[in-house]
Amino acid sequence: MSPKPPVWCAKCNLRIAPYDLLTAYQGANYHQDCFLRLVREEADEKKRGQAFRASSESGEHAKPAAARVGK
Ligand SMILES: [Zn+2]
Repeated sequence: MSPKPPVWCAKCNLRIAPYDLLTAYQGANYHQDCFLRLVREEADEKKRGQAFRASSESGEHAKPAAARVGK
């Protein structure tokens, strides 16, 4: 029996206990909670970027129907 090496969370820098839920993502390990938080933060950042872009383009420039490609 070989003991598992300690795993550290890349988000909160705490050790992830063997009984904790562990999520591996892009070569790093996270607590499941920390990973969910990370994902949410990334999504929020993307949303903020999209919202900024969308607000500057919204309304007046509706896509012309001709641009639609029927399949
Ligand atoms: Zn963590």
